[in-house]
Amino acid sequence: MNACQVTVPERRKLHILLAEDNQINQRVAQTVLEKRGHTVALATNGREAIELFARERFDVVLMDVQMPEVNGFEATAAIRQQEQATALHIPIVAMTAYAMKGDRERCLGAGMDAYISKPINAEELLRTIERLTSNAAESDKEHTSQSDTDFEASVLLAHADEDFELARELVTMFFEDSPKLLLEIRSAIESNNSEGLERAAHALKGGLGYFSNGRAVAAALKLQQLSERGDLTHAQETLNELEEAITLLKPSLSEFVEAYV
Ligand code: MN
Repeated sequence: MNACQVTVPERRKLHILLAEDNQINQRVAQTVLEKRGHTVALATNGREAIELFARERFDVVLMDVQMPEVNGFEATAAIRQQEQATALHIPIVAMTAYAMKGDRERCLGAGMDAYISKPINAEELLRTIERLTSNAAESDKEHTSQSDTDFEASVLLAHADEDFELARELVTMFFEDSPKLLLEIRSAIESNNSEGLERAAHALKGGLGYFSNGRAVAAALKLQQLSERGDLTHAQETLNELEEAITLLKPSLSEFVEAYV
């Protein structure tokens, strides 16, 4: 990892099929997506969704589950059927209003790839789409939730008193501080400086705690423990693990920050 690189990942402009019969939900989804530079084709029921899907090439489908004529489950089945003639699998995100247990499983079982609940949460919507479409772009990436990091926006917001500006500031500070702290950690390990390692690892762990990143926090904690014991034999491996976890965390953080611009 290049410690000087603090990049915001480039965003793809997507063509999105929105199948939704409720006007308020249509308005929210369309506005949020178009503000982000995506284009949206609207279907107001499942039958229209199937027809549009056959005519145009989409990057992702947002599928309301409850719609007149043809519902979201039936439309998804028809779309997956159409795809069998091609090698494609376009991600379908279920949107449901009833937050029932087992709902998620039902959607995934019906051939959908992800699930969001309504009312639509802009941040969740954008994050879900981003996750699904960047997985498709990097097919060599493993489909594990690990690679998607365990960043939780709700945890960050709770820490920040639900104040988006403050949350954004915390992310910005982390982007500024973490490369410096990683450099400090690296040079402390190289010079076998336990005290320096402990200080930097502790500082980094403190910032990471706001984003609830299990893997990165665990690696920072391990570095701190190694330095307390004065045994830096395996510190380099742990630093590699920490850097990797932070690299995976950063896109989610950038996305979070952008979602509230
Ligand atoms: Mn509906």
